[in-house]
Amino acid sequence: MNDQAASVRAAVLTAAETLGIQAFPVPRLGEDDALIRVEVCGLGGSDVTQYLGKLRPSSTVYPVILGHVFVGTVEAVGPRAARRWRVAPGDRVVTEAIVPCWACSLCVSGHYSLCDAGEDLLRYGLISADREPSLWGGFAELVYVPRGALLHKVSPAAPLDALALANSIASGIRWGGDLPAFKAGEVGLVLGPGQRGLATALAMMRAGADKVIITGRSSDAHKLEVAKRWGVDVAVDVDAEDVVDVVRHVTGGAMADVVVEASAVATQPVTDAIKAVRKDGRIVLIGLKRGEPIPGLVTDELIYKGVTVIGAMAANYSSFERACRLIERDGDLITQANTHTFGLDQVERAIHTLAGDVPGADAIGVSVEPGRA
Ligand SMILES: [Zn+2]
Repeated sequence: MNDQAASVRAAVLTAAETLGIQAFPVPRLGEDDALIRVEVCGLGGSDVTQYLGKLRPSSTVYPVILGHVFVGTVEAVGPRAARRWRVAPGDRVVTEAIVPCWACSLCVSGHYSLCDAGEDLLRYGLISADREPSLWGGFAELVYVPRGALLHKVSPAAPLDALALANSIASGIRWGGDLPAFKAGEVGLVLGPGQRGLATALAMMRAGADKVIITGRSSDAHKLEVAKRWGVDVAVDVDAEDVVDVVRHVTGGAMADVVVEASAVATQPVTDAIKAVRKDGRIVLIGLKRGEPIPGLVTDELIYKGVTVIGAMAANYSSFERACRLIERDGDLITQANTHTFGLDQVERAIHTLAGDVPGADAIGVSVEPGRA
């Protein structure tokens, strides 16, 4: 095999806003690991933050191959790994972003997404390419998968554009369904129409919601349009309407059973959530605010109303499994939320598109297909 055939192309970030294609050798596998040929890698807001060098201080170690939401086919797998993961070469799998330690108290009690291993916790897209065998990110032709990683088999017939959103769909199932114990017949309110908010609204609808209400700004019209096509009952433009009034009107004064606050940075949705939730209702907070306090936050109302407030960041194994089934069933619908796809040579353009730097792009989900020219 010549050098060309034995090399793997990857998009490598070597400093903030400095990204280029590099070649790496194909790793040698042992008994317990695997290689995944990446079909698609979805982008999230954290990819933009990381590209700009603004992720939490020191959490990005250059050089690094970005991309943590990848789906691909098993290229090669060690014999023990094949038995453990029940996969064979050619199987299509969704790989979770973290490789937990499986030894800390959080891992062994089922909360591996909160793994406490610190430096030992592997997180795709955040591991230096200087660490062997270098292929630790989804913006590459191949990704290395060590023992302890979490793989989910998914149908080869599922559309790639929908699979690019697997992480958001899995998260939405957990945030909109599992964590607030959403029940059929309830009213759900989702504040923020990004890919995670849309996924949360979809999860509520598939859980048998009586009504689902979603909010966005005027500039989110294209996202609210997708929400309506997916079957959301009410899409609220918060620049034109007061969401609390709308919820009061839609529910006849009963207010929302479950509110998921899914807007990045904006703080008013948190106070809106408290006003829009019913007595004994549940609020799930997933929108990070860059560490900023929430102006006007009054917690008395949470006490008077007996509200349960839950914070969450990630999906888990069970919600990933159900996301795979949902994508297999509703793939054509979910595809509508992946608005842009790029090749490996266009990763920077993909990042700028998701960031909203490309006028008129109206992006929701953006993905990279490394095998595409
Ligand atoms: Zn752990």
